[in-house]
Amino acid sequence: MITVKDSLRAAIRTIPDYPKPGILFRDITTLLGNPQAFRRAIDELVHPYAGTKIDKIAGIEARGFILGGAMAHQLSAGFIPIRKKGKLPHETVRIAYSLEYGLDEMEMHKDAVRPGEKVILVDDLIATGGTAEGATKLLRQMGADIVAACFVIDLPDLGGRRKLEALGVTVRTLIEYEGH
Ligand code: AMP
Repeated sequence: MITVKDSLRAAIRTIPDYPKPGILFRDITTLLGNPQAFRRAIDELVHPYAGTKIDKIAGIEARGFILGGAMAHQLSAGFIPIRKKGKLPHETVRIAYSLEYGLDEMEMHKDAVRPGEKVILVDDLIATGGTAEGATKLLRQMGADIVAACFVIDLPDLGGRRKLEALGVTVRTLIEYEGH
């Protein structure tokens, strides 16, 4: 029997040595371009929250926007873009976060979330967890109640899930790949 996990896995393309040697890039554009797989991924991501009051979905630029927009529609929630620095036009809060090599900064609008609002964070993939940790801190700084952080793909060997769980965030992922 073909499971949901099998069908999602089959819809994701792996590109070796992108963007640099040794990285296996998990490319979800093939999943997004496959009507059944895209719908199934969104259904799986929102499933635990059906009937729950979720105020907003916060998506991490850029693939988190695509998944998060669809999730927000499905859950009748609003959407918050978390962006690379310098892209948002109004007053922002900013945080530095660690990448594999060095630091980058991400921002969200100060008025994007009100204290106590129930928010789900989403991105396509969690690796070291540095990106999602930064987004978690930004959202909490503005008083958000993070119900969960959701990802299509987990790379468990890189420890991102544990990093978020250590911050008290519930993590939900659909499929895993060994290694990185
Ligand atoms: P991290 O901050 O290490 O958890 O990295 C997560 C971010 O980097 C996400 O926005 C992912 O889209 C991207 N990313 C990291 N590793 C990969 C990979 N092997 N394939 C595709 N995207 C990746």
